Amino acid sequence: MSFRKVEPDWTPRNKGSLYCSPACGMGCTRADYEAALHDGAALAKQMGPGWIPDVWENLGWYYNVTKGVVVIHPHIFRGQLLSYTAYFNSIKQLTAQGGTPEKALVDVLKKAKAMHKQIIQDLTVFIGVKDK
Ligand SMILES: [Zn+2]
Repeated sequence: MSFRKVEPDWTPRNKGSLYCSPACGMGCTRADYEAALHDGAALAKQMGPGWIPDVWENLGWYYNVTKGVVVIHPHIFRGQLLSYTAYFNSIKQLTAQGGTPEKALVDVLKKAKAMHKQIIQDLTVFIGVKDK
């Protein structure tokens, strides 16, 4: 027996008031999609120049806005906008292993110095991003 990997089909289809992809199957509506498009564009406008909205489907229609390494996600529960989360996606946890604690420390500090440089660069790009 052999298995063929089938890629999920995330292309939404119109069916009456529905606008949902086979991979989702939740029964998302065209109105939900249009609301996500509208709200994503409104959030990008609210945030100012350089913010780009994104809309996607995954058991419902969702949106966020991005500028450089920063992403802002709204938290919507049962149609109510509850809060937002802002992600600064430059930073990650750093680890290093070594045969001695000193070696591990030296290596993790090297990574931290490189990350510091990256954070400064990402901040500079974020601040410098202009409307295109
Ligand atoms: Zn769907």
